[in-house]
Amino acid sequence: MESTISIAIQKSGRLSEKSLDLIRSCGIDVNADSRVLKASASGFPLDFLFVRDDDIPQYVADGVADIGIVGRNEYDESGISLSVVRDLKFASCRLSIAVPHGFVYKDLSSLEGKRIATSYPRILSDVLNKNGVNAQIVVVSGSVEITVDVGIADAIADLVSTGTTLKMNGLEEVECIYRSSAVMIARSDMSDEKRVLLNRLLERIDAVMLARHQKYILFNLPSDKLEEAAAIIGGMKSPTVTPLMDKNWVSVQSAVDENRFWAVFEELRRLGAEGILVMNIEKMTE
Ligand code: ATP
Ligand code: ZN
Repeated sequence: MESTISIAIQKSGRLSEKSLDLIRSCGIDVNADSRVLKASASGFPLDFLFVRDDDIPQYVADGVADIGIVGRNEYDESGISLSVVRDLKFASCRLSIAVPHGFVYKDLSSLEGKRIATSYPRILSDVLNKNGVNAQIVVVSGSVEITVDVGIADAIADLVSTGTTLKMNGLEEVECIYRSSAVMIARSDMSDEKRVLLNRLLERIDAVMLARHQKYILFNLPSDKLEEAAAIIGGMKSPTVTPLMDKNWVSVQSAVDENRFWAVFEELRRLGAEGILVMNIEKMTE
C-alpha cells in the first residue's frame, strides 16, 4: 500500500482558513466543507485531522498525526519537543503585557509582586524568570482582557494582533514579550516513506511561499537603459531581455520582491519604461 502522511489542522479559528488555503495552493484538494474530524485529500497522499489548536502538539507527539499547523505560541506553551519544520508566516501576533490606565509601567520589573492573567503561563514565566521578576501568574483559558476589570489580576499577558480588543477593554499594551506566527511542526521519528512525503510537501509549500512575495514584471524599455534597469531590478539572476522590432527598444521581464515593487516601478518609469505589466506569481523556486 502507498504510504500517506497525516496533518492536524485547527478545526475552526484563526488558523483554519489560511492553513487550508496553503495546502490547497500546493495542488492538494480536501473537502473541508463538512469539517468532519477526518478527511483525505486528492492530489497528494495526505490525511487531515481537524482539531482544536491546543491539542495539535500532543497529537503530533503521540503519532495521531505526523505533522501539524499551529501557532508558535501554542507549540511553545505545550512544552512538547517536536521539530519546527517551517515558519509559515501567517497568523502573526505577539504576546504583550497590558495594564489598566493608572498602572505606572516602566519595564518588566514594574510587574514585581503583581498578579498577571494569561493563557500562556509557560511562556510568561519563562520571560519573567529570565528578567528576575517575581509575580503571581493567574491562568485563564479565555477572555484574559476582562480579568483586570473583574478584579482577579493587576495586569495581563495576552495575544495581540492589532490591539483594538485591549483598547476596548481599557487596557494599554506596554511591552511585547514574545512573537508568534503559524508554524509547521513534525515528529522527529518519522518513517523514511513519510519523510519523503513531508519533503515533497515542503517543496511545494516553499514554492508557494516564495511566490507570494514576488511580482512578475514585464515592460518595454529604450535599449540604452538596459544596464540601469538591470541594476534597479537586482534579484537573483539577470532579467530576461527580448529584442523588439524597433531596434531602439527591448522587452524586459523579471520577478521583483513585493516589498521593493513600488520603488522599482517608479525608477523604471523614470528610465522611460513603457507598457509595464505586473502579474502575480503562483509558484516559484529559487
Ligand atoms: P481553538 O478552538 O482551536 O482552541 P483558539 O480560540 O484557541 O481556538 P484562535 O483564536 O483561533 O484559537 O487563535 C489561533 C491562533 O491564532 C493563536 O494561537 C495565535 O497563534 C494566532 N493569533 C493571531 N492573531 C491572534 C490574536 N489577535 N489573538 C489570538 N490569537 C491570534
Ligand atoms: Zn485553542
